[in-house]
Amino acid sequence: MIMRGIYQQVRVAIAALLLFGAGAGTAQAPFTCGTSLEDLQAAKEQMFKNMEELRGVALPRTVTYVPVRFWRVGKSDGTGKIPERIILDALCTLNENYADQNIQFYLKEIKDVDNSSVYDNPGSFAGAATIKDLMIYNAINIFITNDAGDGAAAYWQGPAGNSFNSNDWIVCAKSYLGDVRVLTHEVGHFFSLPHPFHGWEGHAWDPSVHGNPVGLYAPDGQTLNEYADGSNCADAGDGICDTPADYLHPSNNCTYSANAKDPSGQPISPDPHLYMNYHFGCDSYYFSDEQKMHIQNSLFSASRNYVRPDYTPNTAEITETPVLVAPINDEDVPGYTNIVLEWDPVPGADMYLVEIDRFQTFTVLPQRFVVSTNSLLIDELEPNKKYYWRVRPFNEYYTCTDFSAPERFRTGDAVAVREIEAVREWAVAPNPVAQEPFVRLSLTVDTPFDADISLVSATGQIVWRQPAQHFGIGNTSIDIPVADLPAGLYNIVVQSARGVLTRRIVVHH
Ligand SMILES: [Zn+2]
Repeated sequence: MIMRGIYQQVRVAIAALLLFGAGAGTAQAPFTCGTSLEDLQAAKEQMFKNMEELRGVALPRTVTYVPVRFWRVGKSDGTGKIPERIILDALCTLNENYADQNIQFYLKEIKDVDNSSVYDNPGSFAGAATIKDLMIYNAINIFITNDAGDGAAAYWQGPAGNSFNSNDWIVCAKSYLGDVRVLTHEVGHFFSLPHPFHGWEGHAWDPSVHGNPVGLYAPDGQTLNEYADGSNCADAGDGICDTPADYLHPSNNCTYSANAKDPSGQPISPDPHLYMNYHFGCDSYYFSDEQKMHIQNSLFSASRNYVRPDYTPNTAEITETPVLVAPINDEDVPGYTNIVLEWDPVPGADMYLVEIDRFQTFTVLPQRFVVSTNSLLIDELEPNKKYYWRVRPFNEYYTCTDFSAPERFRTGDAVAVREIEAVREWAVAPNPVAQEPFVRLSLTVDTPFDADISLVSATGQIVWRQPAQHFGIGNTSIDIPVADLPAGLYNIVVQSARGVLTRRIVVHH
């Protein structure tokens, strides 16, 4: 089993060298990549191998959609996980950054894992072994942790491939997922790109140490230093000819001001705008044309079969934010249990992220829900408190739409009466339900009333709803469709001005 521990010292050195400068922009901070020297060398070799494998092969000119799985890693007690909204932002940024190269990413899923060793030390023996066990090789797996080890923002754990022997995952510290470059850079490593300063990792050029002109070899002792005129570019440095010679001179203002000279005495001129570099503070970043070609080669190489499922996601662009319907803004709702939140469906959206908090920042005591319907039932809030809530629409591809403007309501202190006096008898059958397409709800009623009927999943998602159902005197039966539901526990909720009935049902398939 290859473990990261032996490279820890190298990564310490990189961290020490590069943690300077204040963040120049709101979404940029000093950036340290923790990808190990071994994996970076493997990426460079894979890049040459891919070039051979794909030589003469005509690659598609249409967009290839690549699935991504985000793992929200928390401590073992379940706390500390990154909010879903930052993942949605990160996927949006990733797609913007790769939009000029016919690669777009879509959300395979967001999965949660509670494990303190992965959370705090994903590169440790225990952390890496746990990640290996979690890996699902049908998407790019990105683990969002508290720490990526030794001050690094993120790393790719190679080598490439779709098996237990490969690894092939990305780790990103949660404080860096919102950075405009970090995830894009690591996905660049995933697609076999080395750093433009390959061979200099952990050794920013220093004339008193490395000389000026520099020697023939980079500090790793095996990589040839690239010449300023590019004459040895096919092999030296990163092995990519349209990225200029670079001996690692990160700056925090997007400029190169060192005066390093190549082994022949010519001054080099590195490009701070490359995503694969460490510069920050630039207005924009890019991949060079050859880097893009290598990314395409990697995507269509055998080692990347598992991220090309030949599937086209729902790519509808979502241009509207949700209109919140219920509770009405500033409404005083009578109770604090069984609160139904409802909003108008948004064109193009098939998922919604709902945030609710006592405070408008949504960061103090937030509750967050992801649902595929335009309503949500919350079991219980605090009585007599003001709450803010907002809803963000998305689909598996388009995650760039903002939240609705927040609205607020105030809970009352009434506990929903867990019965309705007018109901003499009621029954739900069959329960459990296995083969049948419907569950039948039957009520025998003494006094007529109206009620909203909901079928609610264990996570609060309203999967079926019939508002304002009238119950006259005598028996009324309602068939609730369950054929398309995933197996699990659900609650049937009958909610009226006179009280509430709930019954748990079990769906088997
Ligand atoms: Zn890197």
